[in-house]
Amino acid sequence: MTRTRIVRVERTDVECSHTVTIRFQDESLARPGQFAMVWIPGLDEVPMSFSYIGDLKGVTVHNVGEATAALHDASRGDKLGIRGPFGRDYRIEGESILFVSGGTGAASLMPALEVAMGNGIRSTIVIGAKTASELIFVDRAISLGADVRISTDDGSKEYKGFASDLALQVLQEGSFDRVLTCGPERMMKTVVTACLEKGIPVQVSLERFMRCGMGICDSCSFGGLHVCVDGPVFDGKDIIEIEDFGVFRRSADGSREVIP
Ligand SMILES: Cc1cc2nc3c(=O)[nH]c(=O)nc-3n(C[C@H](O)[C@H](O)[C@H](O)COP(=O)(O)OP(=O)(O)OC[C@H]3O[C@@H](n4cnc5c(N)ncnc54)[C@H](O)[C@@H]3O)c2cc1C
Repeated sequence: MTRTRIVRVERTDVECSHTVTIRFQDESLARPGQFAMVWIPGLDEVPMSFSYIGDLKGVTVHNVGEATAALHDASRGDKLGIRGPFGRDYRIEGESILFVSGGTGAASLMPALEVAMGNGIRSTIVIGAKTASELIFVDRAISLGADVRISTDDGSKEYKGFASDLALQVLQEGSFDRVLTCGPERMMKTVVTACLEKGIPVQVSLERFMRCGMGICDSCSFGGLHVCVDGPVFDGKDIIEIEDFGVFRRSADGSREVIP
């Protein structure tokens, strides 16, 4: 739905010191991996993956700048504008899926994990964060019955190292038909490279600066593709050769910058 709907914040849940989930009633049909353009009246409109896709939808917001700080401060009853759902979703098929999430990437993957578990697909999820207090959605994944593996960069909980390093270990231990990943782009590039070497189909959710969300403005161009309509979920094999993958993105003024 391209028209903006005004919704009211029903509830906010603190996930960690810099991340909150905002829940609101919206009856649009969203599929796992799709995103909304979230309008903060008087300020900005930003893309956010749906972290909950039922009628009580949710977006999970990492506070990194002006718009996300405003969403962070939202309270019950506040008004927001929602456009979407937009973009290509995850294809959830096979008998066994490995999900690999880093940081806020878990937000996009959780609805996919719910659908996979609901369809009886054996699911393992790597949830990674810099430190234990920044891990999100661990309890939600455990309550779904997934095999949950945790990594922290500083070793404060379970595996010490990047989510991609733990994912490579998990890929050695088990057999998976599909891998779905969302998180820091360099992490995802490592996962995609390993999966393609092993012949495992891998889907990747990318983030780029966006304005229209509908393939018109060109802000999110990526190797001749538009992340808003050709993605945000891409097949790893379709993007591994794109020079920008894991290396460059465009800033708000259109200049090319190195991905931190
Ligand atoms: C399809 C899609 C889904 C997304 N889902 C989520 C989500 O579920 N949760 C979440 O917290 N964030 C998500 N994002 C990223 C989010 O849209 C940006 O963090 C937000 O727009 C930043 O706005 P700001 O005004 O707070 O910060 P700004 O001041 O605009 O930017 C702060 C920093 O973030 C970088 N940045 C801004 N926008 C993007 C972007 N789109 N991609 C990569 N880096 C960016 C800037 O270069 C800068 O370094 C998603 C982005 C896309 C494209």
